Amino acid sequence: MTLTVPASTLDYFGIDSLIDEDTRHLQAAVRAFVDRRVRPHIATWYEDGQLPARELARELGELGVLGMHLTGYGCAGTSATAYGLACYELEAGDSGLRSLVSVQGSLAMYAIWRFGSEEQKQQWLPRMAAGEAIGCFGLTEPDFGSDPSGMRTRARRDGGDWVLDGTKMWITNGSIADVAVVWARTDEGVRGFLVPAGTPGFTAPEITRKQSLRASVTSELVLDGVRLPAEAMLPEAAGLSGPLSCLNEARFGIVFGALGAAQDCLQATIEYARTRQIFDRPLAAYQATQLKLADMSLELGKGMLLAMHLGVAKDAGTLDHRQVSLGKLNSVREAIAIARECRTILGAAGITLDYPVIRHAANLESVLTYEGTSEVHQLIIGQVLTGHSAFR
Ligand SMILES: Cc1cc2nc3c(=O)[nH]c(=O)nc-3n(C[C@H](O)[C@H](O)[C@H](O)COP(=O)(O)OP(=O)(O)OC[C@H]3O[C@@H](n4cnc5c(N)ncnc54)[C@H](O)[C@@H]3O)c2cc1C
Repeated sequence: MTLTVPASTLDYFGIDSLIDEDTRHLQAAVRAFVDRRVRPHIATWYEDGQLPARELARELGELGVLGMHLTGYGCAGTSATAYGLACYELEAGDSGLRSLVSVQGSLAMYAIWRFGSEEQKQQWLPRMAAGEAIGCFGLTEPDFGSDPSGMRTRARRDGGDWVLDGTKMWITNGSIADVAVVWARTDEGVRGFLVPAGTPGFTAPEITRKQSLRASVTSELVLDGVRLPAEAMLPEAAGLSGPLSCLNEARFGIVFGALGAAQDCLQATIEYARTRQIFDRPLAAYQATQLKLADMSLELGKGMLLAMHLGVAKDAGTLDHRQVSLGKLNSVREAIAIARECRTILGAAGITLDYPVIRHAANLESVLTYEGTSEVHQLIIGQVLTGHSAFR
């Protein structure tokens, strides 16, 4: 390890020594993809509120990152840690890119892979792994986000069919999805349904005017008398534990991903501070700057060590979902703090899209809220520590 101005803060921590060689190659391939395909365009995509998601999905499919930690059906079958490190690299590009991959692999594909029938798996998973079909995951509703148990979307039986009515809100990939995994209340509890795009009564208008995660499609899902055959239901998911287990998969990716955004901020800021001259000296040579950089690097490295630890536990099959809350809360909270502190070092330049910092900072506001808000994860941790649930 060379400690003379390391290329990445994590080199200083020697994180690479915790990663096996195959995984390092995979991580490098994702980083190269982001450098080539995303970095040159992301500021424009963000400013325009656009992401060429269909095109990117096919390329991400070729790269092998869609549903990469799942096995069979064209999925790569990597370790959970490798998936986390891929999320880290993708989110260093943009949280919107990582969201595209997380929702596809950890929410939509995982739901089908874990709870679907063999026919459903055969029909959707190989195309989704290749990026030829895009999925979305509809749990949140306009009046029920943190408390999905209150959901109003209903599925009722009509002869052999199901008929769905309701509205889902804030759904990533909604308007571009070929298939929506929709969770609805039935007489037998919450069940999941696969709703193909174009089904009569199903529309997915895009939510506009977002000031965060602009390079990501976010939509409403409107279900107005949507008639589905009996086989559209996911047979193995009964109750809220189904969708919650999917969220847990995606949260795991965020534990790593948010730190990728923080690393990108920090790297851009160190480079800036080394060249920016203030009062005849580089900004990086001032103690005030170095104290900030040291503290941010420490939080980033500590967060990554926790992420790697959770990765090892997940790969060993011993990870408890409440431990994921520790990582999600810590990574996103520290990443947002790092992005804001980096912004101060960049001065006025920090408010433009010429540097990635303000974009990451704005994106991380969404990441703080989705997949369980920071308060929800604090409550999960509080319950573990005290034995008392403070949700209600
Ligand atoms: C860009 C984006 C993409 C998203 N993508 C998806 C998606 O693909 N699929 C999907 O289903 N959802 C998605 N979501 C929705 C997301 O999961 C919800 O926004 C999130 O669960 C919070 O719900 P809410 O926004 O309704 O906030 P609320 O639940 O209304 O929470 C408001 C505030 O109350 C706090 N709070 C909640 N409960 C408690 C409590 N017991 N005690 C104290 N405080 C509490 C919250 O922490 C928060 O600060 C997305 C959201 C965003 C912003």
